[in-house]
Order: sequence, then C-alpha cells, then structure tokens
Amino acid sequence: MNQFQMVDLKGQYQRLKSAIDAAMQAVVDSTAFINGPEVKTFSENLGQYLQAAHVIPCGNGTDALQIALMALDLPAGGEVLVPAFNYVATAEVIALLGLKPVFVDVLPDTMCLDPAKARLAVTEKTVAIMPVHLFGQCAPMEEIMDLALAQELFVIEDNAQAIGAQYVDAEGGTTFAGTIGHVGTTSFFPSKNLGCMGDGGAIFTQEEELASIIRQIANHGQQKKYHYSRIGVNSRLDTLQAALLNVKLQHLDDFILRRQKAAAFYDAHFAEVDQIKIPALAPYSSHVFHQYTLQVPADQRDALKTYLQEKGIPSMVYYPVPLHLHEAYAYLGYKTGDFPVSESLCERVISLPMHTELTEEQQTLIAEAVIRFFKA
Ligand SMILES: *Cc1c(COP(=O)(O)O)cnc(C)c1O
Repeated sequence: MNQFQMVDLKGQYQRLKSAIDAAMQAVVDSTAFINGPEVKTFSENLGQYLQAAHVIPCGNGTDALQIALMALDLPAGGEVLVPAFNYVATAEVIALLGLKPVFVDVLPDTMCLDPAKARLAVTEKTVAIMPVHLFGQCAPMEEIMDLALAQELFVIEDNAQAIGAQYVDAEGGTTFAGTIGHVGTTSFFPSKNLGCMGDGGAIFTQEEELASIIRQIANHGQQKKYHYSRIGVNSRLDTLQAALLNVKLQHLDDFILRRQKAAAFYDAHFAEVDQIKIPALAPYSSHVFHQYTLQVPADQRDALKTYLQEKGIPSMVYYPVPLHLHEAYAYLGYKTGDFPVSESLCERVISLPMHTELTEEQQTLIAEAVIRFFKA
C-alpha cells in the first residue's frame, strides 16, 4: 500500500484497537443497538468536553444542520446567509426547507465567512446566518454574533470541521467552536477530526427549550411515545458509533496536538517558498487542522497536484467550485464575479495529507516534493 494517504484511518485504528474493539464488542454483546446507554453517555461526555449544556446526537452532520434549522421554525422564504466557499451541506438544507440560501464571500486569509460582506447581504428577509468553521479554524464569531444581535438573526454554526477548536474573545476568554451561536452542529464522518466508523452527527445548544425541540425533531417530532407535537425526522447515532466515539473522545486533545504538530512541521518547510501561502492563523481562534490547505498560484495548482500524484502523494482540492456556480443553485441567479475571493480560492487551494498518524519521514518527503515542484 502507498505510504501516503490524505487520512490514515487504518493506522489510527491499529493504534487504538484494543480499547475500540472492547467498547464495540460490549455493544454487540448487549444487542442494545439503538439508543443504548452509550449514546447518552457520549452526549454527556461531549457536552462536558465542549462545555455545551445540551448535546443531541443524530445520524450525520447534514441531518444535524437540517434539524437545527427546523427547530428554529424560520418563516418560508426567509434568507439564510452562508459562505460561498464551502461544502454543500449548509446550502442544501436551507434550500430543502423552503428557505433561501444567500451566499456571502469569505476572508482571503482564513477562508471563513467575511462578516463585513455578511452585513451588506442582510435584507428584511434575512432570518439566520450559518458560519462554517472551515478546515479547523473558527469563523470570526464576535463580529458575526454582533451582526446577528443587531439584526435579530439566528446563528447556526457548522462545526463539522473544527471540533475542539477554541474561539478566543477580545478579553482572552475561550469558548469551544459550535457553542457560541444559538445552535451548533458537527459530523462524525470517518475522516473528520472526531470520526466514527460510519455516519454520525450531533447538535449543540446552551438553551434548554431549544434542546428539547431539537430532541423531539430528531425523534419523529415525538413529545412522548406515540404523541407527535411537530413534524420531525428519524435521525439517530447508533450505539456502536457512540461506544467508539466515547473511546475516541478521550484522545481528541491528542489528535488535535498531533495535527497541530504536523501543520507546524509543514509550515517550517514551506516558509522559504515564495509561491506558497501557508494556512493563516487567526488571532481569535486555535486551529485544529481538519485540513492543511495551501494557497498557490492558480496557473500552477493543477500541475502541482499532478506532479504530487506522480510521486504517489495524494492531495485534494477543497473546494473546486464555489457554491454559487453549481448547477443546483443556478436558480438563485448568481454569476461568475459575484464572490471574487471564493472564486479565486477555488483556483488556488490545495490540501496536503493531514492526519493523526503522519510521521516526520512522510512529511519530509511530501514537503520536499512540493518544494521541488516550485524550485524546478
Ligand atoms: C462533513 C461536513 C458536513 C456534513 O457531514 P455529514 O456527516 O457527511 O453529513 C457538513 N458541513 C461541513 C463543513 C462538512 O465538512
């Protein structure tokens, strides 16, 4: 097998195998596959970790976003601000629920939602804003929360990529990503920083009433057994996944440190290369490096990707097309040129292998190949 991978799930499993196997075997033995006690324990453990009053587990990160939006009971046609440089899930659930995605450009350095641009996109119909903590770093939440307060908007944080990242406020206090807005969501997709062995997700909130609505919606809108107070969905975290996540949560801080160490190692190698812009570190956030994403000249990006591929080194372009230029969202009437920062990033970003099992030998070979491409 190639020694280089974007994410080394096998290596991580081998390292933690005995604890993971024991936790999962216990569930198999118990046969409590749905809503077994591990699901509750995990939501309590994650709540404690994130200092979130309520954690509601669900089927995946996209469901988490959908349930969060459903719980806020937004008026049909309401406009929801969402970054244009982004994974599709946020825009998709907004549109599915009869709301209108309104795209907003991102900051050139951190690649997260630009609050100044968000302010300009607000109309009387704007009801919510969905910042995405992209690649492992918080969006500028204080400015976003100020805007939301001034305009009476709900804030739903998509924290699928930044679990464990901490927002640092002006006074130096820290708050976990996903627990700052009215609702936060995450995904336990296997390649995420806290990944399970299938699909999984969770919703966070500090508000008790909202938590109770979210819990109902995730369970068919059921208030008590066979009594339905609202239209809901069926979205659950399997007991097996919860048992595994209970084990992995104990390692999350270590996972983050390993990623940060790997990022610092790459950074040091790329400092001398003019054509490479290494990931920018915002003063208001820690970075948990879900992705290690470089910005390189647009006319060299694809050639770099091919060059690395020839050396057996994988890389990925997250994301090749901004959301406003996809066919599915053409009905919104956007055109090329509407979000220049997002459009430019789509031509210049490239993500290198980043995971908890990277060795310095592997990283040296990867970094040397990247440098050789630019120095040749
Ligand atoms: C992975 C991801 C999601 C969706 O998570 P799933 O569990 O795959 O549904 C949503 N938003 C972002 C930013 C993601 O990276």
